[in-house]
Parts: sequence; structure tokens; C-alpha cells
Amino acid sequence: MEKESAVLLLFTGGTISMSEDPTTGALRPIDFDRLLDYMPELKQTGIRIKSIPFLPLIDSSDVHPPVWERLAKIIEENYEDYDGFVVLHGTDTMAYSASALSFMLENLSKPVIFTGAQLPIGMMRSDAKENMLTAIEIATAKESGQAIVPEVCIFFEDTLFRGNRTTKKNAEHFNAFNSYNYPPLAKAGVHIKYFRSYIHYPHAGTKLRVRTKIDQNIAILKLFPGITEHTVNAILNIPNLKAVVLESFGAGNAPRCTWFYDSLKEATLRGILIVNKTQCSTGTVEMGRYETSLNLVNAGVMSGFDSTTEALVTKLMYLLGEYTLLDDVKHRLSSSMCGEMTVI
Ligand code: ASP
Repeated sequence: MEKESAVLLLFTGGTISMSEDPTTGALRPIDFDRLLDYMPELKQTGIRIKSIPFLPLIDSSDVHPPVWERLAKIIEENYEDYDGFVVLHGTDTMAYSASALSFMLENLSKPVIFTGAQLPIGMMRSDAKENMLTAIEIATAKESGQAIVPEVCIFFEDTLFRGNRTTKKNAEHFNAFNSYNYPPLAKAGVHIKYFRSYIHYPHAGTKLRVRTKIDQNIAILKLFPGITEHTVNAILNIPNLKAVVLESFGAGNAPRCTWFYDSLKEATLRGILIVNKTQCSTGTVEMGRYETSLNLVNAGVMSGFDSTTEALVTKLMYLLGEYTLLDDVKHRLSSSMCGEMTVI
């Protein structure tokens, strides 16, 4: 007889678990017990499902690194007992959490599927059940005894994305996410179609290694025409700052004025890592393609290639938390650790 499949559901909160506050009309998380009442289907899946609520359930705008650490540790502690893991999470910061977990869970060989909903589970037209039930099916999908998708992913509406390639793109419609620079890993229709050539498989025999140290001393510097020297320097001189995601124009371009170059150069000489990320959703940074990015190369700015901001922010936090030598951080930053970017 085949062994029963088993999934661990980790509830952090989000719209999926909310209802309207009768006095203010605002959406806020409901009690966990009431939440399960809305989902009798969970008992009919034929899958052994255990759930762990992170109480109190929270809106994902309140998610911070200790939540990632807790998720990673619970997955580590329960790794042998389950075929896969489903994380119920608000959509607002889901791409950050999925990216963070992809770095923390090294040599992952089981699915970790994040999902949520755009409408609360108690509402008639809610997308919650469909998202959750399909995520559970993907978390248990196997072929020849091996997980079909042994990655940290986001499943939403009908598409499975690599988590660290995903961005929230829509605050209104059910297709809340997209992965602009990497193809989907699966599509769910009548059947779930897996695109195996895009899925990453770990080397046989490697063991899960969980590393959860985080350093939050990073900042995002988003350029715009007219940005002042004062603004740039205020960011680059934040006390204890270790790294900056520089959100540049187009293929990674920035103003050529001397003060800007000098500020960046001075910061990299102080050991601050600056990583170039294009403000465009699709495409990659190509430093040196235009004259307007040559200065960045000379100032010691590194390329983030086609990474998302969510992946760069969490990768930097993870690397700065785990490695003390700047060269170690730089080396890992410039390569793809778990499919988060395409190096050209
Ligand atoms: N504000 C909610 C959250 O991120 C939105 C959602 O879940 O869709 O928690």
C-alpha cells in the first residue's frame, strides 16, 4: 500500500485569514479556529494535513525577519515527517518571504509552496480555497518517489512561480504575481502541467542545511531625475549601513554628474556594497552598455543582473548575516545561489 502523503500548513495570516471589523470596516485577521471551519475540504483531500498557526495571525506588512527564521526552523524540525510544506501568507510581502526562505533552505529537496488570497476565505468569490488546495496538491506531487517541485515557490491563481523570481504586480485582480524574468514552473488547469526543464533539482544525497542569520543594515536607493546630492548622501551615510540596492534606469543607467560618482565611490571604498538593479520589471542590468553606467562600474558598483528587488534585499540580508568577510559576500552576490538571477 502507498504511504499516505503529508503536508504541513504554516499559517502566518494575510487576507486569506481576514474578515471585516464590524466597527471600522477594515480587514483584519480572524481567529485561527474560525478559519479552519471555513475549510471542510481540507479533511477530504486524502492527505494528512497538520497546521501550525503563527498566532496572532498578521497582515504581511508586519512580517519581518524573525518570521522567516521561524518558518525556516519549523520546516527544518519537521522536514522528515512531511512530503511538502504550504505557507499561508499575505500577498503584500510574500515575494520577500519566499525569496528569504529560498536562501535560508539550502539543498532543499521538498516543495515549500507559498500561497494566499486576494479575498478573505469567508467571502463567496474568494480565491482562497482554490489557491490553497492546489498548493497542497503541488506540495505532495511526486514522481518515482521524488518531489516534482523541490523549490520554494509561490502559487497564485493558476500559476506556480519560483519564489525568488516573483513580484507582486496586482493589488486588485486574482493574478497577483508575476515572474518577469523566469518562466513559470507549472500551470494549473484541469491538470497541473509541470515545466520540468525550468525546475531546479538538488544533487542526489545532499542534506538540507538551514541558515537563518540575517543582517538588516541595508537600504534601497531609488533614482529619479532630479534626485539631490543630499538625498543620496543621507542614504549612503546611514549609521551601520552595509549594503545598498541601487534602483537604476533602463539597462542599469544612472546620472553622470561628478557628485554622484564621488558619493558612490566613497561609499564602496568604505566597504559598502552597492548592487545595481534596474527599475524595469523585465530585462537585465548590463553595466557598460551605455556611457551612463560606466561610472557605476568605476565606482565599484556590482551588477544585480535580472534579480528582483525582493531577491536582492533578502539575499543581501542573508549573506551579510552569514558571512563576515566582504569578499565572501561579494563572491556569492555575483553568482546565482538558487536560481534567483541569470548571470550574463
Ligand atoms: N494586506 C494583505 C497582506 O499582505 C494583503 C493580502 O493578503 O493579499 O497581508
